[in-house]
Amino acid sequence: MIVVKSNSEIELMKKAGECAAEIFEALPAVIRPGMSTKELDRWIEDFILERDMIPAFKGYGGFPAAACISVNEELIHGIPSKKKILKDGDIVSVDLGAIYKGFYSDAARTYPVGKISDECEKLIKVTKESFFEGLKFCKKGYRIGDVSHAVQSYAEAAGFSVIRDYTGHGVGSDLHEDPAVPNYGKAGHGPKLVPGMTIAIEPMIAAGDYDVDVLDNDWTVVMSDGRMCAHYENTVLITEGEPVLLTCRDIQNG
Ligand code: MG
Repeated sequence: MIVVKSNSEIELMKKAGECAAEIFEALPAVIRPGMSTKELDRWIEDFILERDMIPAFKGYGGFPAAACISVNEELIHGIPSKKKILKDGDIVSVDLGAIYKGFYSDAARTYPVGKISDECEKLIKVTKESFFEGLKFCKKGYRIGDVSHAVQSYAEAAGFSVIRDYTGHGVGSDLHEDPAVPNYGKAGHGPKLVPGMTIAIEPMIAAGDYDVDVLDNDWTVVMSDGRMCAHYENTVLITEGEPVLLTCRDIQNG
């Protein structure tokens, strides 16, 4: 069931989203070679707690940390670890959310660690751009399939592949609500977008093939071919007019 949010619920989601947006603005200055993913997770958790919010992912389905931190061929659900040290040339995907008065935000970015390859630069850029291609269809009257199709077409035209096994989703008083928001699909298909819907659109894009495996920790999803992948996500509010990004205040630097 798709839950349309009231104005007062949207205000709470804006607060939860702003917390995520602030974290993403800060992270380029926080992430550095030599840092463990556990250290990065602790920084994120402290930031959320200092704002009197709750890290949305901690304990969700038993997940043990505040953020999912996935490095290189890890796509999503990377578990922060003291032993996992970021090094020059890595790319690191950070997926997080906050809960404010019962309402969630959910968003992700992929960051370079030090100097990265041209292919990784392109992968991060195209993943972000594919989100904004999908966003063009986040208006009343379009359907989820229009968003999905736009993301897929853009990423594939750049020579990358789109992950099939995981999708975006509605978000609100639960982290994962209807509808599913795939990053592939047919224009003109799927549920209609209506004002008051809040959806997490999250392109997950691979340099190689789209097949994935789950590691023995039962969480971390990795590319089967071991190649690089990237993730970009915002919680988006559908309105009568232009969509509103609840988890991004600065499109260039956030
Ligand atoms: Mg999500």
